[in-house]
Amino acid sequence: MTVTLDWFGCTTYRLNIDGLVVFLDTFMDRLSSAPDNGATSADIKEADFALIGHSHMDHIAGADVIAKNTGAKVIGSFETARVLRRAGVPKEQLLPSAGGELHQLNDDVTVRVFPSLHSCIWSTAAPSGVLLEGDIGVSYGERAARLTSQRDEGPSLPAALAAEQKELDARRIGSGNDGGALDYLIDTPDGTIFFQNSMGFWSGILAGIRADVAIMGCAGRGNIDGEPIQGSVEEYVAIVANTVAPKQLVLGHHDNWAGDPDAPDLMNIEPIREELERSVPFAEIIEPGYQDGRELLPASE
Ligand SMILES: [Zn+2]
Repeated sequence: MTVTLDWFGCTTYRLNIDGLVVFLDTFMDRLSSAPDNGATSADIKEADFALIGHSHMDHIAGADVIAKNTGAKVIGSFETARVLRRAGVPKEQLLPSAGGELHQLNDDVTVRVFPSLHSCIWSTAAPSGVLLEGDIGVSYGERAARLTSQRDEGPSLPAALAAEQKELDARRIGSGNDGGALDYLIDTPDGTIFFQNSMGFWSGILAGIRADVAIMGCAGRGNIDGEPIQGSVEEYVAIVANTVAPKQLVLGHHDNWAGDPDAPDLMNIEPIREELERSVPFAEIIEPGYQDGRELLPASE
């Protein structure tokens, strides 16, 4: 069996599991100032399934286009299913899930869905290498008020890019709500692949998950059991890696997917790499380029 992984930036990947094509998120239609990931959702002609981690635009956009063009089934939250229904995806292609479901992808491959958490976007985030503390016990109302004021501040783009952004936003689907984050554990005859697209988890749930490969988003303020991590991005990633104990670990979400002209990369992953080499020495750290067809789960000798 051969399993290959192609990265399209952010936390969008295509797995090819012996001919079974599974997308992890579907966001690839980016501003021209973002690094060139070499594809738009309209370019995708073949897909069997798409697993959507949560309903924000930078994860779900393109799922409508891919589902309509390929007939792929989409597994995601009920919010993800609602957004896709509104975008005209037939109900028969949607497998809304809340965690606990076991989906059969073909005769040999299954995926288990787990309830998870989104990173604390309402709190303070920092680049890797920076320890953050505080913001414990902030209420729902206060979190919502902070998100609203963040949105009002919003980043300003040069005029040409702002126009392009407007045009993109008119056709990219997404929800203002994460819809409840989900993690996925894909089981193949050659091993298991864990996918977490936002930095958050319920520790009681994560504690029961082991995988041969872990694919993780690493950007933002980690969320552990509903509260912001008291620590750094690399500490968050190391906690997940030590729990899931993968042989291969793929890092994502750190590229400049939004195309901010002043930000070459969202996250410098060097401090994360250093922390992982120290605390998870058994894991091979994989930093894929865009669509470079990395082989996962190599046959054990
Ligand atoms: Zn998000």
